[in-house]
Formats: sequence, C-alpha cells, structure tokens
Amino acid sequence: MSTTFTLIDPATGLAFQDVPRASLEEVDAAIAAAVVAQRAWAALAPLARADALRSFARIVEEHVEELAQLEVRNSGHPISSARWEASHVAQVLNFYAGAPERLNGQQIPVAGGLDVTFHEPYGVVGIIVPWNFPMTIASWGFAPALAAGNAVVLKPAELTPLTAVRLGELALEAGLPGGLFAVITGSGSVVGERFVSHPDVRKVVFTGSTDVGVEVAAGCARGLKPVTLELGGKSANIVFADGDLEKAAAAAPGAVFDNAGQDCCARSRILVQRSVYDRFLELLEPAVAAWRVGDPSLESTEMGPLISAAHRDTVASFLEGADVAFRGSAPSGDGFWMAPSVVLASPGDRIAREEVFGPVVAVLPFEDEADAIRLANDTIYGLAGSLWTENLGRAVRVARGVKSGVLSVNSHSSVRYWTPFGGMKASGLGRELGPDAAEHFTETKNVFFATDAS
Ligand code: NAP
Ligand code: MG
Repeated sequence: MSTTFTLIDPATGLAFQDVPRASLEEVDAAIAAAVVAQRAWAALAPLARADALRSFARIVEEHVEELAQLEVRNSGHPISSARWEASHVAQVLNFYAGAPERLNGQQIPVAGGLDVTFHEPYGVVGIIVPWNFPMTIASWGFAPALAAGNAVVLKPAELTPLTAVRLGELALEAGLPGGLFAVITGSGSVVGERFVSHPDVRKVVFTGSTDVGVEVAAGCARGLKPVTLELGGKSANIVFADGDLEKAAAAAPGAVFDNAGQDCCARSRILVQRSVYDRFLELLEPAVAAWRVGDPSLESTEMGPLISAAHRDTVASFLEGADVAFRGSAPSGDGFWMAPSVVLASPGDRIAREEVFGPVVAVLPFEDEADAIRLANDTIYGLAGSLWTENLGRAVRVARGVKSGVLSVNSHSSVRYWTPFGGMKASGLGRELGPDAAEHFTETKNVFFATDAS
C-alpha cells in the first residue's frame, strides 16, 4: 500500500492533494499519547472541560467558511450545505459542552451506608467516519466523547479527510491538550482495524456500511469493547391519499437527492397509496425537474456530484433494466455527475431492496394503512422514514408501526443534535446525539460507603 492517498475534486475529476497514510506504529503512538492525555483531561474540574469545549466551538464558528470551502473541494457538497455542516459542528460542541457538569450519578438508598454511582469515562474512544458527511458525523462522536472525559482517536474516510484534519488542528488552537483528540488519516484496514484490535481503545463508534460494521462489531466482541454502529438504510417516504400531496411531492426530491442521495437517511423508497399514485407522480415530475444539480461552489446549487467515479458506476448499475419514469438534469463534464432518477418498482426488485446511496428513488404503490406499514418494514434496514397524512390517529399508528429509529410526520427532518439519532435492525446499534449521548461514553461505577460506627 502506498504511503499517501491522492484526493480528487469530485466536481472536476482532478487530483489536488496527497494525504499521508498512517502506519500501524503511528496509530499505536497516537493511542499511547491519548491514554496519557485522557488521564489529565478526566482529572480536570467539569467546568474546565466545559470551557475547553466551548472555546473549541468558538474557534470552529470562526472557521465555518474555511471548513465549508474544504468540504466543497474534497466532497463536492453544495456550499450552502457545507456551511450548515460546519456550523452544526460548532453547535454540537456547544451542546455537549454543557454535559460535564450534568453527568449526574445516583444516590441509592441502602442499609448501613451510602451508595452512589459515577459515570466514568471509558478512556480512549476510537471513531471511524465515512465519506458522506465527514465533519458532522465526526462531531457526533468526538463532542460527547470528549465531554464525558474520554480521549478520542478519529479516522476519517480516505476519500474525505480534510475537514477532520482541520478540526484536529482547531482543537489544538482552542487549547485542548495535545494528544487528546488525534485525527489519523489512513485506510480502514490499517487505522480503523487497529482501533478495533488495540486493547487501549475501550469503545468504538463506527459509521459506514453494514458489511464493514458487522466486522467491526465482531472485532469489538473479541476485545469485549462496546460499539456504536450507524449503518445503511432504505428508508420509506409514505404518502397517504389523505396527506397534503402538493407538499409531499415538493419535499420528496430533497428527502432523497440531498447530498446526491449519499445519505444513510435518504428516503429512497416512496410508497404511494394507489388511489393517488398517478396524481402524485404528476406532481413529483416538475419537482424533480426543478432540482438544481450543478457546480457545488454556487449558492443556488442543491446537489453536487457523487463522491467518486467508482461510486457513480455502482449507483448507475442500479438503473440497468430499471423502469425509469423520469429524470432530472446534471451537468456534463469531467466531474462525477449523475442526474436524479425516479424509478417505478415492485417490492422484489433490487432497486426496492438494496441501498443505492445515490440520486435514485424507487416509487411503489400500496393499498391501505396495513399494507403501507408492511411494505415500509419489508427491508433489512430500519434507520429513518417519513409519512404524510392529515389523519392524526393514522400518523400515530404508522409512526409506531414502522420499525425505524428516526421518523418524521409531514416533513423529512431527521437530524437535530439535541434529539436521539440511530437505526434499528441492520441500520445499527445504539444511538448518537440527543440528551444522553455523553452518558453513552461512560460506564457506571457503583460505590458503597459503610457508615456504621464500629
Ligand atoms: P465503509 O466502507 O463501511 O467505510 C466507513 C469507514 O470505515 C471508512 O472510514 C473506512 O475507511 C472504514 N473501514 C473500512 N474497512 C474497515 C475495517 N475493516 N475496519 C475498520 N474500519 C474500516 O462505508 P463508506 O463506503 O465510507 O460509506 C457508505 C456506507 O456507509 C453506506 O452504506 C451508508 O449507508 C453508510 N453510512 C451510514 C450512516 C449512518 O449514520 N447510519 C452514515 C453514513 C454512511 P476507508 O474507506 O478510508 O478505507
Ligand atoms: Mg468503503
């Protein structure tokens, strides 16, 4: 394996930078430094850790534009999305900066003494990040992990390391101790695998494909270390005849084509009640045609290129033999462009079952509420989902009936940093974000103090 990796601008197809690949020895050295840094960090007063994270958040805020521009270049994200992502990192840091003083244990009544619990940090946490949302997904791990008193070693995806590397530098500028938050570039099979096998990494957070996630979990089982997994999805967008069809159709492209469909929460199956199926497609077609695909550096762009030529080939393979109803537009040129596609599908089709991770959506009809729930659950995944209905009882029944971790009614929102996020079934294990995330980076210690005078 070469000692560097070459980054390619997805909008132009041109190479622009080489990034080093860490060796096993370098990974081990970073973990050893993290072990030392963690002890001092955990010994700080809660307010000192909170203050350090707040100054990290402030520095990120001051660098939103720089981070956003890096993401446009490295990942092809539209500039407006990239700015949102960089600001989100600062917000996540600020939110979990409130955690150190709130990691309350319990006092439990016992005879002959006092019983209390402590939330102890694990020590060093390893975070493995995919290429689709490089900085936001990184922050969902490192912010609460640091807040809870852990050190973090973080591996960005080889394709998209630049914003994570910059965040590592900004942490130092903000005054976080050296070694506490180490961003290590390199391959999954070397750096990521070492996080899993190294005895001093006591918890692993992995976001990526279900296949690799299963291997990571198996490796963590051998080391008896807890693991959080955020994996793939095949989320349903369920449109009932009693829903606001205009609104549902207008929102559907954004729900699946945002980030060029390279989103684990993409609503990549639209289930439409048969009585309004034709009408819904009529409304969807102009919405897809209006979806703006183009130069990611322009404010008006809604969707940029795919991440790589190889990924575009994979996505394109899903369209072979598919019944394409209509497509949007995309620029020609040397970038990894692909026009969004709407495909008519049946439940057994590959396009209706497998995660595409690209700008392709499958539309399937359903008969009634029970059929909608059955179809929505007819997948190995269970990450997100949406449903459109004006009937309150139906909204509650369907939201409870769909086996997914994150659902929205009459909207497509799925990520708010102060609410929990994560998947059921093959979409993952554990939850990130929300009020309890810092606690997920601790283990409970119970201490009994005898008070009997002898
Ligand atoms: P991936 O191949 O699973 O890679 C994810 C990360 O794991 C990368 O940093 C990768 O490193 C690393 N990795 C690869 N092999 C490893 C191993 N044996 N041990 C430890 N780490 C290893 O996924 P991807 O291709 O980046 O992303 C696409 C997939 O991720 C999709 O299926 C998508 O649904 C899923 N995803 C899910 C979520 C979620 O929140 N649920 C979010 C984003 C993506 P390198 O690539 O650098 O070698
Ligand atoms: Mg991969």
